[in-house]
Amino acid sequence: MSLETLSPSRASDFKVCPQLFKFRAIDRLPEPTTVYQARGTTAHLALERLYDLPAPQRTPDALAALFRGAWTEMRGSEEFACLFESAEEERRWGIESLTVLLNYFTLEDPTMVAPLDRELDMLEDLGGITIRGILDRIDELPDGNLVITDYKSGKAPPERYAPPAFFALKIYALLIKKQLGRTPVEVRLLYLNGPTMYRMPIEDRQLDAMDRQLRALWTAIDRAIDRDQFPPRPGRLCDWCSFKDVCPAWQQEDVPALQTSEA
Ligand code: SF4
Repeated sequence: MSLETLSPSRASDFKVCPQLFKFRAIDRLPEPTTVYQARGTTAHLALERLYDLPAPQRTPDALAALFRGAWTEMRGSEEFACLFESAEEERRWGIESLTVLLNYFTLEDPTMVAPLDRELDMLEDLGGITIRGILDRIDELPDGNLVITDYKSGKAPPERYAPPAFFALKIYALLIKKQLGRTPVEVRLLYLNGPTMYRMPIEDRQLDAMDRQLRALWTAIDRAIDRDQFPPRPGRLCDWCSFKDVCPAWQQEDVPALQTSEA
């Protein structure tokens, strides 16, 4: 078996914990849907649709209506059908989700944003490795420069832990450079719960380094598959990991010593 495509999310998994990568990308174990995932998916859809509207109509009321509409579409799906135990629990989730989503207007003025594309499905052969992922938004600034934005419905990490969070966005910047022949000048992470925006300027040398890093990662993944060796790397992430109950690192009598697992 060998890898056909690699997404920025799975690349990040392998860097953080090879065992987590195996559970998700090789074993494809199902993960329980959470209320936080439901919030994230619904918020992404609402924000995508906000930019279907003419600029003056991109208001908080419009975004709230888009969120309600998106949730009405999704709540009956198999993925989300059994998420809430009662209508009251769902109602509280909706109110809290809207509060978080409307924080968006403290981070950006959507009437001033000109997206070039949204929810962009990217598939790019980097010469021997194929990367696939969905980019939340790419904007063209008035000066013609490109900026990539990723929405997060959760809380931002403290600033000192933020750089690894840009890993996936730098991959998208590389893919954009390959496709359009233009290097985005900046990548942005918008954390709605906080709210917080982190920005990172991008230069060609960072993307060259990312290209090399992806190739090394691809080789390491291929080797791990050949040898069936995906060592668990216990860390802070374990507390949120869906697979802790089946993870070999947590099956021993003595729980492992935690390591810092920043990329
Ligand atoms: S529980 Fe921790 S060590 Fe195990 S797969 Fe998840 S993140 Fe990795």
